[in-house]
Amino acid sequence: MGGPAIAPIPDNPRPHVGRVLVPRERIARRVNDLAEAIEADFDGRPITIAAVMTGALIFVADLVRRLPSAMRIHLVQIRSYPGRAVASQGPTLLAGPPEDLTGQDVLLIDDILDSGRTLKRAVEEFRRAGAHAVRTCVLVAKPAEVRAADGLARADYVGFEIPPVFVVGYGMDFDDCYRNLPDIAVLEGGS
Ligand code: 5GP
Ligand code: MG
Repeated sequence: MGGPAIAPIPDNPRPHVGRVLVPRERIARRVNDLAEAIEADFDGRPITIAAVMTGALIFVADLVRRLPSAMRIHLVQIRSYPGRAVASQGPTLLAGPPEDLTGQDVLLIDDILDSGRTLKRAVEEFRRAGAHAVRTCVLVAKPAEVRAADGLARADYVGFEIPPVFVVGYGMDFDDCYRNLPDIAVLEGGS
């Protein structure tokens, strides 16, 4: 047939990474502040870190290296946004806490507090496992108005308050992509 191949016109605009909301330098400074606050509050007691995978991956890696306390790190997996979803489908627990955490001081770490259902579910699981205290830490929080009635209203430690937009980067994904971006950016055209 010859002639140049013409790319098909997509049905939907493809999502793309838009403006940077929080640049890497600000993230690094804030992670330092959070680490100082956490160290002061735990006051030398060992910390049982529980990282909510996969979004908290990069944040936890940076944060724990600024915490000199004795600690154990557990990974839990809770998924609310399967595949290309940009609205919460409700938390599904894929990997929970260890069976017995009697007496331990837990710090639950997640990337985002949005509806609050994920962290509420995680806090319940850790209390059930016998934790003495469960505190929560998120890198970013969306406005409190978006919190669901059955979600966690607020986290104990919050890196940044952001508008109700869908963000990617620094561990946060769309369809499992973009986690490696060093800045937090707005995803545009996702559906
Ligand atoms: P929640 O249960 O509070 O509605 O949602 C929390 C979880 O949803 C987070 O652990 C995160 O994985 C995901 N999430 C919520 N908002 C966003 C967002 O803007 N971007 C990305 N990548 N994930 C989000
Ligand atoms: Mg998550």
